[in-house]
Amino acid sequence: MNDVLIDVKDLHVEFDVRAGIVKAVDGLDLTIRRGQTVGVIGESGCGKSVTARAILRMVPKPGKVTSGQVMYYRKAKKGKKHLKDEVLDITQLPPDGEIIRQIRGGEIGMIFQEPMSSLTPVYTAGTHINEALSLHRLIPLQKVGDQMAEAITTYRTVTKDEAREIAIDMLRKVGIPKPTERVDSYPHQLSGGQRQRVMIAIALSCEPEMLIADEPTTALDVSIEAQILDVMRDLQRTANMAIMFITHNLGVVAEMAEEMVVMYMGKQVERAKTVDLFYDPKHPYTQALLKSIPKVGKRSNERLATIEGMVPDPFHLPTGCVFHPRCPMFMPGKCDKITPTYKQIGENHWASCLLYEDV
Ligand code: SF4
Repeated sequence: MNDVLIDVKDLHVEFDVRAGIVKAVDGLDLTIRRGQTVGVIGESGCGKSVTARAILRMVPKPGKVTSGQVMYYRKAKKGKKHLKDEVLDITQLPPDGEIIRQIRGGEIGMIFQEPMSSLTPVYTAGTHINEALSLHRLIPLQKVGDQMAEAITTYRTVTKDEAREIAIDMLRKVGIPKPTERVDSYPHQLSGGQRQRVMIAIALSCEPEMLIADEPTTALDVSIEAQILDVMRDLQRTANMAIMFITHNLGVVAEMAEEMVVMYMGKQVERAKTVDLFYDPKHPYTQALLKSIPKVGKRSNERLATIEGMVPDPFHLPTGCVFHPRCPMFMPGKCDKITPTYKQIGENHWASCLLYEDV
């Protein structure tokens, strides 16, 4: 377990609304190791973003974590405020307490889908980055002579000038043109793509242990997208940062992630190494998702494959396997009666489907 950073165990998140209870995340297990990129894919509403928010203890109301754990293997690190290794269950931390505020943004950064609603309109790009830096980033004090041991090296918060320099450098890294001018721009003076890049600069400026990237490049054109993915990969290499990459874009996730998790209606239905998942998907839902990607070389007048039917009503989930009304491999009398278990079906390969169970 040495290199495990986040270990989500049997996580359940529910939204209690007037029409009933929606199980947004239903028994999720997910392990993310240091330096690893895990891609999370699935249709809208399958629980990807709610899982990310649960990891940061910020599930929006009326949602709440009803059971399960999010274990965080926290390590003392130079330049961070905590001084000892510890294991924390994030679901048990007070949502506005000091510890979760250190973790959120400082140790686990997040890039949200909507940059406009995440940036404060009256703050410049530079102020946003400075705020994150002053809260989370520390600079080692100058050593006085050789006798000062590493263990007693003390830290100070970054000064305004240092924060401005770091902010300009981060804006440059994420490809914002004229960063020395743009650092003083307000969100409304930036284009959608630039706002998204400012969000990414804020998240990466504190050099987090893990980055949760929720559709981080959706609003960007492909050349900027490639630039941003490079920045993330660089940081991952130099700072051993883990990434949880949530996306609809299977091409991007194939390029970024070593392992992939496929979610459907709040459950993980398959997990495998990316190469295995793309070349040998086992779950019928994953197979259908992959068939729906446009392929280079396919005739332009050929119709793309689609997944039959609709995502079920979350208040009236199908019995047995939740995918059964849409599944091309549906087995009457089994799939509509028995709930498949999520189990290992090969080397580093897990799935929940009755095709791989002896029933
Ligand atoms: Fe399809 Fe049955 Fe497997 Fe569900 S359990 S994915 S319905 S074959």
